[in-house]
Amino acid sequence: MIQPESAASRRFRQFGFGGCCDRLRTAFELPNSHFLVDDEGALFVTTGWVEGGEGLGEYHSAVLFCPFCGASLQSADKIRYLSLGPG
Ligand SMILES: [Zn+2]
Repeated sequence: MIQPESAASRRFRQFGFGGCCDRLRTAFELPNSHFLVDDEGALFVTTGWVEGGEGLGEYHSAVLFCPFCGASLQSADKIRYLSLGPG
């Protein structure tokens, strides 16, 4: 059965992620996937949660390599550039 593509899955594809293997594409498509792409196009994974005074806070880590096949997905320099800009 063909499932309709989710908004999250479209976003991963829009920024060029998921081309390395089916397992990563499947992980992106799960309803409660821990992968996310920020507004600048950097890929992160949620690594934990903490309860704080303002509610639940999340910890995210940049994903440099596919956790399933080991393909390079983005560089640390790209993450720095997207976070801080060219200066
Ligand atoms: Zn992969």
